[in-house]
Parts: sequence; C-alpha cells; structure tokens
Amino acid sequence: MSTHPLFIDNLAFAKKNERLEGVLSALDCPRLLELLQADLADGALKAGQDAVAIHYILQGSTDSVGQHYLRLIISAKLVTACQRCLSEMPVTLRLTYNYLIGESVADDDEVSDIESDDVDLQEASQTMDIVKLIEDEVIMAMPIAPTHDEDCGAGVMQSGEKPNPFAVLKGLIKPE
Ligand SMILES: [Zn+2]
Repeated sequence: MSTHPLFIDNLAFAKKNERLEGVLSALDCPRLLELLQADLADGALKAGQDAVAIHYILQGSTDSVGQHYLRLIISAKLVTACQRCLSEMPVTLRLTYNYLIGESVADDDEVSDIESDDVDLQEASQTMDIVKLIEDEVIMAMPIAPTHDEDCGAGVMQSGEKPNPFAVLKGLIKPE
C-alpha cells in the first residue's frame, strides 16, 4: 500500500486559518493496523468498503491574544476483535483535539496551565507529520480491551439458546 505523507508548517497553517480535510486509510497506519482485526481490515479493503477509513478535519486558528491553535476532528469506524468472544467488533470513534502551537519551547508554568484546559501543546514545526498525529490519537483512543456491550460470553452458541445446566443432571437421575 502506498502511504500518504502529509506535512504542514503548523504555525503558518494556524496563522492563515487554513483547513485540511481528508480520509486516511487505517492501512496507511501500520501501528494502528496491529490493533485492528487485520483479516477483516484486509477483507474490507478488498471489498472497497469504508470500514478502515479515518476521516479527519484539521482547522487552524488564532485567538484574540495571538495564540495559534490547531483543532483536529477525527471520525472513524474501525473493526477490532472482541476480547471476550474474539469475533468482529466495530468501534466508532469521534474525537476532537485542540493543540496550542508553541513558537518556542514554552516555560513550564505556561505548559501546565494549558494542559489543565484540555489543550495539548505542539511545538511549532515546519514539517508537522499529520498522518503520524492522527495515527497516534486514534491509537490512544482505541479501547484497550474491547468487548461487546451485550453479553457475548457464550459466543460459540449460534442459536442464542443457552444450555440448560439442569439438563445434565436430568440425564444422571435414572428413573427406577
Ligand atoms: Zn464479544
């Protein structure tokens, strides 16, 4: 698979209020792919489905006091494996991140203020790797031990009918 490197000058991007919108394939994110149900991702790709697509919007902005921000919005439907029944499990992610771009290495006091306000700091860079950023955020957002909401513990039972535990006992009690 081809990769799509995507680099921006993040400070210039924010100053110009630029906007970038696109779709990444999870297949371009090898570290993320390891977390997914790889077979299913392959299948989805071959079928031309949208199952491994990561939609993103990156919006630059500058606030009234001249601080430069990036907002990243990610929307993805991925398929991973349920850790209980090991079958396919869709994961829908809708994520929003705000980053303050530091022109220089900010002093520690400033950084701690920022972090308390749901804004992450990004160092100013002329070659900020957007694909890596998106991949990192999606990986961080993926559930560590995903399981189906419904009780899928008896996942091998296809009929949905649970075995009656007393049925075994009945067989043991022989009528005289
Ligand atoms: Zn399950």
